[in-house]
Amino acid sequence: MTIPVNRKHSLLAISFSRRDFLARTSCFGAYYALAKTIPLPSITASLGIDSRVSQTPLVDKGFASVRKIGNGLYATISDPTKGNATLSNGGFLVGKDAALLIEGFTTTGGASFQMETLRSVSQVPVRAALDTHYHFDHSMGNSFYGANGVPVWAHAAAAQRMVESYSPMQGADRGAVLAPYEKRVKDAKSDAERQHAQSDLNAITGVFQIANSSIIALPSHPIDPAKPASIDLGGLSAVLESHPGHSGTDIIVRVPEQNVVYAGDLLFNGWYPVAFDDKATISGWRGTLAKFAAFEKDTIFVPGHGQICGQEGIASIREVFDDIAAQAEKMFKAGVPAAEAAHRYVVPEKFKNFPIFAWGFTIGPAITKLYAEWQHK
Ligand SMILES: [Zn+2]
Repeated sequence: MTIPVNRKHSLLAISFSRRDFLARTSCFGAYYALAKTIPLPSITASLGIDSRVSQTPLVDKGFASVRKIGNGLYATISDPTKGNATLSNGGFLVGKDAALLIEGFTTTGGASFQMETLRSVSQVPVRAALDTHYHFDHSMGNSFYGANGVPVWAHAAAAQRMVESYSPMQGADRGAVLAPYEKRVKDAKSDAERQHAQSDLNAITGVFQIANSSIIALPSHPIDPAKPASIDLGGLSAVLESHPGHSGTDIIVRVPEQNVVYAGDLLFNGWYPVAFDDKATISGWRGTLAKFAAFEKDTIFVPGHGQICGQEGIASIREVFDDIAAQAEKMFKAGVPAAEAAHRYVVPEKFKNFPIFAWGFTIGPAITKLYAEWQHK
């Protein structure tokens, strides 16, 4: 069983007993233990030579920095090794008449930091804050925007997914939520399985802590995924488009006139992609990345996690998917069962510095989903 969210759902449905659990201790250390050993690559390693990207950040708080990447375009890049306020990347667009913020981040402190940085460059009204998808690290700080009268936009399915995924955790029995994950650590049949199970336990512990220390604020403006929406901020227009892959609720922000794309978690740059979501589709995701690869050669991408990049970042995540698919296909053809194959993937040398958020949220489900796609052919 490598899709922990299913266990979580069935478990939470029966575990509503309220009990005090240890108040929000800082367990993020274990949660991002792996990422902590792998610092964010410097900007010069990727886009340092692109004149659109400013060499010096506007502000650097450690946990995140904000940098100008175009005319009225800014990227907020998180470094989880230095703090947890944002965790995901984001950014903002500033036109003559209005601004658009991107991401609700993990905490209200993260959202507040981004708004404050926007205010340091412009006083135009904020049209909206967009959650690129519903995941906690892009949405749990939404209530800051709500309290400041900023409408929160997201994919039409995002609000419901937030309610289904995070509300049941609030006030739930911590031990009951974590028990199945602890059991998997205990029952592991090999060192690899034990390590994988431990990484999943760390991740779910982190999500539980965040859900229990956040006021969930739902997006107020649903974006119809069937219709790309244009937004005119005054001399700066952007297009909001839905693409399949990471969460079933993914929206990207494209600025066609400047070849800049805020890709959300459809792009993990230099990380293993998080693919656990019930609505994640590996074939759909690879198709989306093929489309991104066909964007202009000088496109700047702001990924959901990792450093800003150009087309080389798209090429790299496509290689990661190709490698996972190639290893999985060999095992599939050799008759290795899916559950076992999910643990047998070997990280190749060239990806050894790619953070893995947790095995059962990244590589494991990518393999079981590929198996499922092949079985249904
Ligand atoms: Zn995500």
